[in-house]
Amino acid sequence: MANPSLLILAGDGIGPEVMDEVKKVIGWFGDKRGLEFDVSEDLVGGCAYDAHGTPLTDATMEKAQQVDAVLLGAVGGPKYDDLDFSVKPERGLLRLRKEMDLYANLRPAQCFDALADFSSLKRDVVAGLDIMIIRELTSGVYFGEPRGIHTEGNERVGINTQRYTESEIARVARSAFELARKRSNKVCSMEKANVMESGVLWRQVVTEVHEREYPDVELSHMYADAGAMQLCRWPKQFDVIVTDNLFGDLLSDAAAMLTGSLGMLPSASLGAPMANGRPKALYEPVHGSAPDIAGQGKANPIACVLSFAMALRYSFDKGDEATRLEDAVNTVLADGYRTPDLLGEEGKDPVTTKQMGDAIVAALDASL
Ligand code: NAD
Repeated sequence: MANPSLLILAGDGIGPEVMDEVKKVIGWFGDKRGLEFDVSEDLVGGCAYDAHGTPLTDATMEKAQQVDAVLLGAVGGPKYDDLDFSVKPERGLLRLRKEMDLYANLRPAQCFDALADFSSLKRDVVAGLDIMIIRELTSGVYFGEPRGIHTEGNERVGINTQRYTESEIARVARSAFELARKRSNKVCSMEKANVMESGVLWRQVVTEVHEREYPDVELSHMYADAGAMQLCRWPKQFDVIVTDNLFGDLLSDAAAMLTGSLGMLPSASLGAPMANGRPKALYEPVHGSAPDIAGQGKANPIACVLSFAMALRYSFDKGDEATRLEDAVNTVLADGYRTPDLLGEEGKDPVTTKQMGDAIVAALDASL
């Protein structure tokens, strides 16, 4: 059988630096676990604009549609700030998400024990936290029509429209139930059915999909504002949270920050299953290209490494190997390895991006 295929788009700024460490990890799984990938690499963002005058060529888009998973670093940088909106680096990423129709955005909030004191919440609230927020990514108020700013009488009016179809809600609900079955079998759906009709429909459709297709999964509903409070009060009550584009944007950022640094946060964006049963998938760290530290060996590669762990789990059905990689990250953190973003007030000697990557590979070796 052919090896699974992986397209690496390292991008700009710290993207290539953190991706170099992920490549070591990918190589390790090939050498030591017999998990070979057909890896190809291409350009996205500012570097693609420099080479081709566009942040994503049609040829790269086509490749992304063909592979089993795309792994992206980060795009953007001050050099490109004055470009026309249509060729800005971020347009490359948006085109990937849109044309691959990646409607389910998975944002884990996982607290590694060694970093529990790094959170702004108390240790016992966050230690051991492992929840997943699924945000609907391709519809809702960011896309609904009508939209715009116009004048009514003698004042301006700003309009955006929250709009969801049944099928858009049903497919992201399925993603949540499927994921819950691979985790603790528990989904909490969040909307504002008390004040929004789109929320009423959201609750109805999630409930119907649940009763029809996933009665074995525990389902609860919560108003999104109450959900935000509960996330700060006692986040460990949740396993999988599914919510719309707008609420998901806010709730996933809040939940992610429960766990500390931006340099630690992975994400996955999944679409419909392909012919081979794997979902269309793009994995990327939540952070950007960090121009302030690019080229200095200061970037934390863990967010990108954990994005690859998500690929192992959700695209390649290698949950055990994903756990092995997450455990290796936990080990290096417990051993005191810290890139500068994880140092806080501790004032210890930081390690470089490369040293962090090497330590993760050494911890993987020790796991055998
Ligand atoms: P950013 O995420 O790049 O950086 C914010 C802060 O976090 C910076 O101080 C940075 O040094 C730090 N940081 C980020 N990642 C880190 C890591 N792995 N290790 C250590 N520190 C890290 O956000 P920004 O500064 O608002 O944006 C910079 C550029 O990145 C802009 O051009 C923006 O458009 C782009 N951007 C891209 C993406 C993406 O590619 N998905 C996401 C956000 C921003």
